[in-house]
Amino acid sequence: MEQLNTEEFENQVTQKLVENYELIIRELGEDPFREGLAKTPERAAKAMKFLTQGYDQDAEAILRSAMFREDYSEMVLVKDIEVYSLCEHHLLPFYGKAHVAYIPNGYIVGLSKIPRVIEVFARRLQVQERMTDQILKCIDQTIKPLGVAVVIEARHMCMMMRGVQKQNSITTTSAFTGEFQRVETRSEFLNLIGAKLY
Ligand SMILES: [Zn+2]
Repeated sequence: MEQLNTEEFENQVTQKLVENYELIIRELGEDPFREGLAKTPERAAKAMKFLTQGYDQDAEAILRSAMFREDYSEMVLVKDIEVYSLCEHHLLPFYGKAHVAYIPNGYIVGLSKIPRVIEVFARRLQVQERMTDQILKCIDQTIKPLGVAVVIEARHMCMMMRGVQKQNSITTTSAFTGEFQRVETRSEFLNLIGAKLY
């Protein structure tokens, strides 16, 4: 029953999005009814819903669903995870790679869950800095490891497409807790991912 209500709600939202995309296309001086654009408002609305589906997902629950008791206490690193998000200032994509490491403190998580956590936070209107922090906090609070490290390297379409003179620049953000605040541990992590921070 509740499921149905949610679906109905989402259909309504999508219909409103469709109408608004039609207005935007018209406002841009285009004919929203010409052949190539006729279904564009609907497609754009569905794409936008897809790209922001992270609002409805619980990243901590995803981690908790695959937490295992384990004595392993070396660094666990998942690197080069593809990230696609939307900049909240321009609604344009930013995309790149995320690298996540943690040092277990009695618990490990299924490795495939780390990219899923990133998806949950990336599929929202975001700024790269906040997303980096949210991923870090989620892992830190859920599996309570000895330390977490998150580095994200991304290109922002709002910089690349709008004539700023930094078309090829990559924005790097990072966040660290616990053991990763120690220089040696942090350097080991940064060497492993091949990133040059500071
Ligand atoms: Zn932007």
